[in-house]
Amino acid sequence: MSEYLLSFTDDAGLKMIYTRCARCEINFISADEDLCKVCKGEMAGSRFEDDDEPEELLCLYCEKRQVVYGEEMCASCLQKREKAAQTLS
Ligand SMILES: [Zn+2]
Ligand SMILES: [Zn+2]
Repeated sequence: MSEYLLSFTDDAGLKMIYTRCARCEINFISADEDLCKVCKGEMAGSRFEDDDEPEELLCLYCEKRQVVYGEEMCASCLQKREKAAQTLS
């Protein structure tokens, strides 16, 4: 038997297969799970921390670059707008 697999029969007579968590390789998880509860918690925690970071607003026009502070568009789009304004006047 592989050292990464553990199987036993539970009280109900069902054969349970456990495998080691792919992330920490310490905790056993049931075969239909990817990660143990600890790692799942950590993953969820790290996602939550990401959400806590200040949002960087994307340019409303190109939706690719970060906006210039106090504007609703990026530096590149601001330049384009200025050029367009110059050609119009
Ligand atoms: Zn784990
Ligand atoms: Zn832009």
